Amino acid sequence: MPAYDDNNIFARILRGEIPNDTVLETGHTLVFRDIRPQAPVHVLVIPKGAYVSYDDFSANASDAEIVDFHRAVARVTRDLGVSLDSGQGFRAITNAGAHGVQEVPHFHLHILGGRPMGRMVQPD
Ligand code: 5GP
Repeated sequence: MPAYDDNNIFARILRGEIPNDTVLETGHTLVFRDIRPQAPVHVLVIPKGAYVSYDDFSANASDAEIVDFHRAVARVTRDLGVSLDSGQGFRAITNAGAHGVQEVPHFHLHILGGRPMGRMVQPD
């Protein structure tokens, strides 16, 4: 696992050095709108802890952090009207490393919805 970069953009958002459009904040998790939205609803769910990627988070976060993260997903999908109860569904994506084309090396889950999302992976 690569070392966590304390100066990545989401670490700076968590420290309050860069503004963000927060949708939900809990003890271990922050949800905010993506600065370049790809859909009518496009938010990023991030743990407050220093985890590089989903596999890092899944292996090394505490049970409390993992539960809090996933409960936050449930809350925002419902509150933003894209859950199966409140709307018509969503796509959740997390990119990891070079082949995943991860731009920001702090674990984040994209939640996209508000329109049909098309094919999951575009052919080359
Ligand atoms: P990745 O490619 O790492 O999965 O996605 C990173 C996401 O972070 C991109 O969708 C990009 O638009 C978003 N992003 C990058 N910098 C900022 C920022 O400063 N603020 C917010 N809200 N989103 C950002």
